[in-house]
Amino acid sequence: MEIIVYLLAVLLTALSILVFLLVRKIRHERSKNKNLSALINASEVYTITWTTDFSRIEANKPMTEFLEKIGRTADENFLKSIFLDNDSLGTTGSVLLVGAMAKEGRTAAFTLSDGSVRHILWKSKIINTGDAFTSIATTGTDVTEEYTTQKELDTAKQQQAIASESLDIAAESAELGILTITHTAVGYDISISDIGREMLGIDGENITYEDFTSKISINERELFDNCVHKLFSEASASDSVEVNIRISENTVHRFLFRIKATKCTSNNLNRLTAAFVDMTAERANISRREHVSGEDPLTGFLGRNGFFSDGEAYLAKAKEENTGAAVVSIRIDRYQKISTLFGMEIADRLLLTYAQGLENCSRNPALFGKIAQDNFAVLLPFSDKKNIDLFVKELSLFIENACNGNILPSILTEQSRFTAGVCFYDGTDDIISLYNKANMTLYTEFSESNGVCRYFDKTVEEKIYNRDTIEEELRTAIKNGEFELYYQPKMSFDGTELLGAEALMRWNHPANGVVSPISFIPIAEEVGLITQIDEWGLMEACRQAKLWQDKGYKPLRVSVNMSQAQLYQTDVVSSIEHALNSSGLSSEYLEVELTETMAMQDIERTISILKKIQELGVSVSMDDFGTGYSSLSALKLLPINILKIDRSLIYDITANPTSHSIVKAIVELGKALDLVVLAEGVETEKQSEMLSKLGCTIAQGYFYGKPLTAADIERKFLKNTAITE
Ligand code: C2E
Ligand code: CA
Ligand code: CA
Repeated sequence: MEIIVYLLAVLLTALSILVFLLVRKIRHERSKNKNLSALINASEVYTITWTTDFSRIEANKPMTEFLEKIGRTADENFLKSIFLDNDSLGTTGSVLLVGAMAKEGRTAAFTLSDGSVRHILWKSKIINTGDAFTSIATTGTDVTEEYTTQKELDTAKQQQAIASESLDIAAESAELGILTITHTAVGYDISISDIGREMLGIDGENITYEDFTSKISINERELFDNCVHKLFSEASASDSVEVNIRISENTVHRFLFRIKATKCTSNNLNRLTAAFVDMTAERANISRREHVSGEDPLTGFLGRNGFFSDGEAYLAKAKEENTGAAVVSIRIDRYQKISTLFGMEIADRLLLTYAQGLENCSRNPALFGKIAQDNFAVLLPFSDKKNIDLFVKELSLFIENACNGNILPSILTEQSRFTAGVCFYDGTDDIISLYNKANMTLYTEFSESNGVCRYFDKTVEEKIYNRDTIEEELRTAIKNGEFELYYQPKMSFDGTELLGAEALMRWNHPANGVVSPISFIPIAEEVGLITQIDEWGLMEACRQAKLWQDKGYKPLRVSVNMSQAQLYQTDVVSSIEHALNSSGLSSEYLEVELTETMAMQDIERTISILKKIQELGVSVSMDDFGTGYSSLSALKLLPINILKIDRSLIYDITANPTSHSIVKAIVELGKALDLVVLAEGVETEKQSEMLSKLGCTIAQGYFYGKPLTAADIERKFLKNTAITE
């Protein structure tokens, strides 16, 4: 009896402790949520928090107001309209999570009740990864301003192109002026057509060359003059020049001249004939943004010419005061790719971030220039590597923070890196050659690197030469058959069944040994040799797979990696057909891998190509899924069979609940789309268990086997599958 009472007492105590703990936990959660709600409500940013089961959807005040304006409510359908482009996959919010986690965010347009259109950039963060559902906070920023100025600029630029072409069309109408300049013993003679004179606001018929040039705006006279001199002296074919001309006391118009040199053999005088059109209307838009001073309109930095002329003075001062100077040329890696992938708006934001970073991280007096689209130059008062290294390191951190702090899509931390080339001023170079040396240093190696700093020295020119040699070596490698395919097994999660193998390229370099595709594929892409290499890989993989079958092993499906060039620039469908026919491999044993990023470049074309590939009986797999440009609606349209979850998500799945949630959502998405889900980069037993539990069906990674030569695959994996023998 005593024991029962005692046990009861213990039980009661335990219970009350449990209740106490529970209440405290709930209170704590509540206060946490309350704090969070307070924070979210205080923010100016549109915020909507939601759970993947849609049981809780909450909007903050700005969001609620915004929803009212667009006549919507904070519900499941609204969320779907952001992440699925109104195209419901008919599944749970877990699928929506994949779209929500698209690292660069998504921009969607909304029409307000007053008829105006706002563009909102939505970004999401996982705030809680419960077992049953995940809570997400989605924030929206109004980017209409950036969006529309960009649109305006695009239109203006387009108009500019049209205007240039319209010279020919204008010739047929009355809007074209003709001007001839003749080189005489005493100078230039000029004559202008009637319409031309009218356009330029010139009254009398007789006008001297000097009269004419005096009408050109002061800072552009030299430009026009130089163009004329050049055409006469070099007798080069033609040139174009655009200048402002005062056509009346209060009116300045902009004219585009296309000038052609013609030789009059009769009297041996050279003559120039120019056609010109009035570009004022077309330029109005652009000049608003692009300063005559040559300033970069976006960053406000000096343009190429400005940097070089101010740079000369900077160097002169440094020499006089003996302070030392260095030029740092900063190249944003993959800028082109970023602007194609993420759009001009993000690309501009990236440039602005760099501009800000450069200013923040440099010491006075510094001079900044925007030299080319992806290239900044900075003149710094340093003569030692330590200070420069520090500057570059700080810049690198600044960019990284911008990516993590939502100024830029976080995916850019992986995508956007930069390289710095440095040349110190030794008192002899002029600014242009100093910049050229710094810039040249950028190109000594193919690989792009995060904030790596390369210094100019005597070997740079030699290295540039070597780069060309690599291209030569690659050509030889193709001719001499120095490439080899390694194969990496794809297995069932319990490791008992071999389900396929991915063919991975290796280069057996005669001097350097086995070279990884990471170091030569980018070069091959850059110099246009990738399609030949891939063509070979495709043929070789088919040949090998058929050979294994002929040897009596259980048929193995091989997958080959496609490059973007192969997909878009070659008739890849015919290549595949040819490879199958000439090897005799049945199409069901071939699979092609392409990345999300590649597919999104031209989605319609990709769909049509992939359809044809599937019609041949070949499987298609979406490589590196979860890292790139996730457009769920597009994914639904893409004819694919397999989703390969990128190894960056697998890598920390056991430690990072966010990765776990995303992988979980991808698996669910795969199921909704009837796709096989493969996890790549499985390295540990723990990862394997977790992935298998989540519902992945195929595993690839070092835990199951590294890429091996064909002979090793045969020995280690195929021998025990022999059907005959
Ligand atoms: P990928 O298509 O994502 O290929 C998988 C890469 O991950 C391979 O690197 C493989 O060795 C590596 N890997 C496999 N399991 C693990 C693991 O458990 N942990 C880690 N850390 N890594 C693992 P590899 O062979 O160096 O290939 C690199 C990339 O080169 C490939 O990435 C692919 O994009 C490209 N590539 C390879 N072969 C070809 C080819 O024939 N044509 C083209 N166009 N690209 C190729
Ligand atoms: Ca692959
Ligand atoms: Ca991959």
